[in-house]
Amino acid sequence: ANEAAAESDEDRVPRAPVVTVMGHVDHGKTRLLDAIRSSKVTEGEHGGITQHIGAYQVEVPHEGEQRKLTFIDTPGHEAFTAMRARGAKVTDIAVLVVAADDGVMPQTVEALNHAKAAGVPVVVAVNKIDKDGASPDKIRGQLTEYELVPEEYGGDVMFVDVSARQNLNIDELLEAVLLTSDAALELQANPDKEARGVAIEANLDKGRGPVATVLVQSGTLKVGDNMVVGTAFGRVRAMFDENGEAVEEAGPSRPVQVLGLSNVPRAGDSFLSTEEDRTARQIAEKREAAERNAMLAKRRKRVSLENFDQVVAEGKIDTLNLIIKGDVSGAVEALEDALMGIDVGDEVQLRVIHRGVGAITQNDVNLATVDDAVIVGFNVRPAERVTELADREGVDMRFYSVIYAAIDDIEAALKGMLKPEYEEVELGSAEIREVFRSSKFGNIAGSIVRSGIIRRNAKARLVRDGKVVSDKLAIESLKRYKDDATEVRDGFECGIGLGAFNDIQEGDIIETWEMREIPRV
Ligand code: GDP
Repeated sequence: ANEAAAESDEDRVPRAPVVTVMGHVDHGKTRLLDAIRSSKVTEGEHGGITQHIGAYQVEVPHEGEQRKLTFIDTPGHEAFTAMRARGAKVTDIAVLVVAADDGVMPQTVEALNHAKAAGVPVVVAVNKIDKDGASPDKIRGQLTEYELVPEEYGGDVMFVDVSARQNLNIDELLEAVLLTSDAALELQANPDKEARGVAIEANLDKGRGPVATVLVQSGTLKVGDNMVVGTAFGRVRAMFDENGEAVEEAGPSRPVQVLGLSNVPRAGDSFLSTEEDRTARQIAEKREAAERNAMLAKRRKRVSLENFDQVVAEGKIDTLNLIIKGDVSGAVEALEDALMGIDVGDEVQLRVIHRGVGAITQNDVNLATVDDAVIVGFNVRPAERVTELADREGVDMRFYSVIYAAIDDIEAALKGMLKPEYEEVELGSAEIREVFRSSKFGNIAGSIVRSGIIRRNAKARLVRDGKVVSDKLAIESLKRYKDDATEVRDGFECGIGLGAFNDIQEGDIIETWEMREIPRV
């Protein structure tokens, strides 16, 4: 199962980082991707015009070497999240674009939360610095509040001021991506084996049939290979790069357009190449069946406020992930503060993985699917399509218009999750004065209570000459004269039966205690 571990280190060679550009609408993601592509895509033999195939690779001089970077050419985190929702990890590094004349906006925060949730390092491109009113320092200050602390402020995030329109500092940005990648990640893959990777995008072309852009993640994909992508399969008839030029093979981190599939796969579908065409078909069919089952299983298993304690008890999770959406930012903040203020001790925790202003979107549901989150809506409703998606994915969405109602609900779920904690409470002790042998009831210890109380059913240990003879006992019977008693106090005499345990002597001490549930506050 762990393929990377199974192959020896020497088979693996460095591969290019795969980069996704994210950020608020109109902050310049598309323009920046264009600027990088047009200035850097390695020119083909014919000086070909770059084509949009969903991803492209650029070459950058870096510390005396020619290094490659792969950009996913679909701006925005929707694609990123949709792929993650399908289980694909495509992105190594995220470039967060923030317009210097605008500042941190809701989708900026959404994007950085997505990167955080995926554990992907971030490089910030402060864009539009050519504009009047651009304030790169303001952006640095704002992002610091979201734990993206610039290097120049003593943090570990690289910020680069750029202008996508004027092609300003594009090289510096690429440099920063490489430096961040080299510092944070050790990207390697083995090129000498059957190819594996992920579909980035796909469509049905009238003339050419299903066309898919795939990103090779390990191994090498060659023309003539059999492959299976999601539930599609086929023999690679031809491959093209971002210049529209035919390529014969593609190694790790290389995106290529592939022709020859049986049908159109989905973004985020994983692929592999196989030697035999029968194998590809069989895998595709198996996957189709597995997908159906997984979907059913997921619907049953997904975390909701109701089944949370059950999932915790099964040891599956100890964190309740939340996505908070509200009509105004003040309400979102107030709700988050209130929820984070719920005290549930150390065993379980609440984590807000995303918050934002506005209606609940498909993207929120996708994120909830990936990270098993519950969506909390405050004075907002989802669109119908979003509700359908949530139903299909089994995502728990809750709607409130009063903050206290939300707190009560979440608090109840969190407390339900806690396994009760018990403590030992000493009850009392008794000294055995006389042993009555009884074949019917076992031996009875005629005793006097010396401290506290002796209670029926309490746990007990027998101590002789200061040593514990047994501590696995229980007060199985308790009598005052002929009558059964539930408890007997300090100073009174009683008859104690320890069940099948008969090794009792005059002078022994019976100590008793109870396990008591520690109340939660
Ligand atoms: P996206 O929604 O994030 O993909 O944003 P776009 O790339 O479509 O850019 C939105 C608008 O901002 C367009 O009109 C761009 O021409 C403009 N824009 C993008 N980058 C810059 C820049 O560096 N400087 C200036 N002045 N305008 C820019």
